[in-house]
Amino acid sequence: MDGFPRRWLPAVWFSGSMLPFLMFFCAVAGAEWHYRDATVMGTLVQLQVWHEDPSVANAGIEAVLADMRRIDAGMSTYRDDSELSRINAAAARQPIPISDELGGLIARAMEFSRLTDGAFDVTYASVGYLYDYREGVRPDHAALEDALQGVDYRHVALDPERGTIAYRQEGVRVDLGGIAKGYAVERGAEILRSRGIEHAQISAGGDTRLVGDRRGRPWLVGVRDPRDRARIVAQLPLMDEAISTSGDYERYFEADGVRYHHIIDPGSGESASGVRSVSIIGPDATLTDALSTGVFVLGAERGVELVNSLPGVEAVIVDGDGNLRFSSGLEQQH
Ligand code: AMP
Ligand code: MG
Repeated sequence: MDGFPRRWLPAVWFSGSMLPFLMFFCAVAGAEWHYRDATVMGTLVQLQVWHEDPSVANAGIEAVLADMRRIDAGMSTYRDDSELSRINAAAARQPIPISDELGGLIARAMEFSRLTDGAFDVTYASVGYLYDYREGVRPDHAALEDALQGVDYRHVALDPERGTIAYRQEGVRVDLGGIAKGYAVERGAEILRSRGIEHAQISAGGDTRLVGDRRGRPWLVGVRDPRDRARIVAQLPLMDEAISTSGDYERYFEADGVRYHHIIDPGSGESASGVRSVSIIGPDATLTDALSTGVFVLGAERGVELVNSLPGVEAVIVDGDGNLRFSSGLEQQH
């Protein structure tokens, strides 16, 4: 072996036994990105998963979609037979038993209500249900005032010891439309990781969770122009983080020069005005989902102030004039 360059040694070892070499080669050749689009929770779910074994990637994708369907079956208010719909129908009369998972998510939602001073409020729905964005229907003043009585997260009483939930008055409805998709993609990330998947992107509507990086590079996530679908106003390199966007362009109609859209200011019962979109970046998609909705209601000034007070959380806001606003951690970078 005298004079034999050391760097040749592994090749020599492989040629001594071709079997491990072939196995290694096949594994790398099969390794690739796996993509899947599906409609779950009434929204477009998109998955991108990398694993060297395609069967692991595909089984991971199936497990995430199955979990999202399970969450939808329990938490959707579009289904009369969901656990949440059954609670909404009865909890104003007496305390109703609630599963740990649903109770836990409602408790979490109420923390975001306190944090945003009631801008994010899971009881927005008594008013929210009076709008039909597809049909262009909105409530008159009297109906709005009446429904507003039921809007206040403090009407919801969770009792973790007894495992029950009760509403303190009639007309209260809990709806998790502003937080459940984030929760579902966050769980999706946990499911993939538990199966040994280290690079993935999971999104459901405006909520995206990134697992790891994009194989040695950060993921690039674009923030779209709220008035031009084809244009990106900011691009963020992200790894192992969540990003949620709430926009006034997702579900809306216009009447008398006013844009009526799906994010409701719980104070007035009307669509929140002042910003066009809010993107929140943070460590967990449940948080970014709730905060994107809450900060949208708070508006640019108060929203940026709140985000700046939260470690590890950043915001990109397109304000009412179409100008970009950044939280302090991003301001230095752009
Ligand atoms: P997002 O697209 O995440 O901002 O969520 C918007 C959805 O959140 C709406 O379609 C409603 O289901 C729900 N929502 C609207 N306004 C509020 C609010 N003020 N607080 C909590 N959820 C809300
Ligand atoms: Mg949200």
